[in-house]
Amino acid sequence: MAGIFDVHAHLAHEKYVEEGVTVEEIVDDARNFGVDRIVNVGYNVETSKIVMLQANRINGLYAAVGIHPLEVKFVTDEAYAKIDDYANSKKVLAIGEIGLDYYEKNFNKENQLHGFEMQLKIAKQNNLAVLLHIRDVENNYTAFDDVLKLLDKYDIKRAAVHSFTGNWDIAQKFIKRGYYISISGLITYARKFEELKNVVKNASLNYLVIESDSPHITPEPKKGKLNYPGNLQLTINKITSIKGIEKDEVISSTRVNAQKLFGLLNKKDFL
Ligand SMILES: [Zn+2]
Repeated sequence: MAGIFDVHAHLAHEKYVEEGVTVEEIVDDARNFGVDRIVNVGYNVETSKIVMLQANRINGLYAAVGIHPLEVKFVTDEAYAKIDDYANSKKVLAIGEIGLDYYEKNFNKENQLHGFEMQLKIAKQNNLAVLLHIRDVENNYTAFDDVLKLLDKYDIKRAAVHSFTGNWDIAQKFIKRGYYISISGLITYARKFEELKNVVKNASLNYLVIESDSPHITPEPKKGKLNYPGNLQLTINKITSIKGIEKDEVISSTRVNAQKLFGLLNKKDFL
C-alpha cells in the first residue's frame, strides 16, 4: 500500500523544541502511522535554513523555504537572497510558505505584495513549486484573487493552496489553472465544515493534496493538543467519508498529486 504524503508541516517549530521532541522522533512516529513523505516548511530565514538542513539528513523528509506573509515586514531584501541560496539545496522542493494575508489588522499590503513577488521570482528561476498561504477576513476573497493575478503574472506552473479556506467558486479558479487544493485538519472542525465539505465533495481527487500543518490545526478529536503528521489519518478518514470512496484511493491519489506538484514523479528513488 502507498504511504501517506504530508505536503505541509513545520517540524522546525519551537513548540517541538519546548516539548523536547526531535525531528527524527517525529518522522519515526509519522512512519508508524503510514506517513512516509513530509515536506517540512520554513516561514522565515532561520526556519528555512533549519528545514533545509533537516531534509538533508533524514530520509523521507523534504523542505520548502520561504518568508511567510506575516513575516515579510521584519525582513530586508537580504533575506530573499538567502532564500534564493537555500533554494539550490537538493532536497528543497518548493518555495513556501508564501502568499498574502489580509486577515491581520493593519497589514501592510504593499510590503506583502513585494515579499510575495520577490519569492515568486525565486520559485520561477529555480523551477520549484509554490506553497501558498492565503488568508482573508470572513466572506472576503480579495487575497485569493490578488494571489491568482500574481501566479498568472509570473507564469507559475506548480502550486498548492495550503490549508485551503476558500469556497467552491474560489477553489475552481485554482483547479482550472492546474493548481492543487491542500486539505488540512480544518475539515474535521464544525465551524469551517460546510464550505470546505463542498470543496472536498466537488473537487476531483486529481486536484487534492493533504497536509497536517503540524504543530498547528490538530484534527478533531485531538484538537487542543500539539499536532503531529501521524494525525493525518484523522483528516483522511473525514475526506474518505465525505467523498464516499475507499481510504486507499484517497491516500494513493493524494500521493501521486504531491509527486506531480513537487516534480518527484520520475525520481522514485529520491529519498
Ligand atoms: Zn503552515
